[in-house]
Amino acid sequence: MKESGATSPFPIQAGSAGMPISIQQAKIIYNLPFNDLLFRAQTIHRLHFDPNMVQMSRLLSIKTGGCAEDCGYCSQSAHYPTGLKASKLMEVERVLTEARKAKDAGATRYCMGAAWRSPKDRDMDTLVAMVEGVRALGMESCMTLGMLTEAQAGKLAEAGLDYYNHNIDTSERFYSEVITTRSFEDRLDTLATVRMAGIKVCAGGILGMGETVDDRISMLLTLATLPVPPESVPINQLIPIPGSKLEDAAPVDPIDFIRLIALARILMPTSHLRLSAGRTEMSDEMQALCFFAGANSIFVGDTLLTADNPDDDHDTALFRRLGLSPMPLEPAV
Ligand code: SF4
Repeated sequence: MKESGATSPFPIQAGSAGMPISIQQAKIIYNLPFNDLLFRAQTIHRLHFDPNMVQMSRLLSIKTGGCAEDCGYCSQSAHYPTGLKASKLMEVERVLTEARKAKDAGATRYCMGAAWRSPKDRDMDTLVAMVEGVRALGMESCMTLGMLTEAQAGKLAEAGLDYYNHNIDTSERFYSEVITTRSFEDRLDTLATVRMAGIKVCAGGILGMGETVDDRISMLLTLATLPVPPESVPINQLIPIPGSKLEDAAPVDPIDFIRLIALARILMPTSHLRLSAGRTEMSDEMQALCFFAGANSIFVGDTLLTADNPDDDHDTALFRRLGLSPMPLEPAV
């Protein structure tokens, strides 16, 4: 049986480790006939993952709003009148109570996000206690706290932090259209600091901010060609926030979104690809196609930091309809 894209010069494993790929090659793959693209992505997916397992993470905002950064998509930036009420860093016990509930509901990774440009050193002991507490529950821990110094990354690594999330958001070319208070280079520097500290990297981006398809492909190539690609890659669909810079952004074409998931799977064969913000706007059929294209991680729980997320009952029903199961935690080695 032949793909109609059999004229494509690229082997099924294009983009896997040791096989660098150019932007032109990535664009050709992205533009393959849809069925050929999904077939390739699914074939690669099956080489590295059980296709019917989806990793489940839960995200909690441990410090909300009042952020000094001006990310044009964010409800928590102090630069935009989004109406969000700012709050202080949560107490450790409250965070752990929520983590226990998440574990009981089937989540294996607990992600804690703070709306900061970077953490203050005075908050580090509290953050360390949160990481240690989540690890003691037998869950993987993840934090997203903004830019880190080497010393801060070292402390979090010592506490046992499994993942650090720091999205590159978009392409280098488009970055300054969305954020001006830090640079694309700052982002890459923090990712390098996290990697050097021995923490696994979670880094992805957002579609629907006015970027071109080339920007999206370029963003994926930046991630795929890091010295070590991120172990976890969240792909978000913008939820336009009233009052934010991007409140009037046009929605992403669902087929384009699915194509990008497929390309991400082909470029980063062993990374967990997470459908993140924006799932409330996706039909079950679109999510099913994203899973077929290689997405294998979701956030569960009815809120994502400050945004809505499908509720647990909806996700349970979707998993049942698609024959999907939650991915168990890999035993620590
Ligand atoms: S995305 Fe993060 S860094 Fe940017 S404004 Fe929102 S909370 Fe701050």
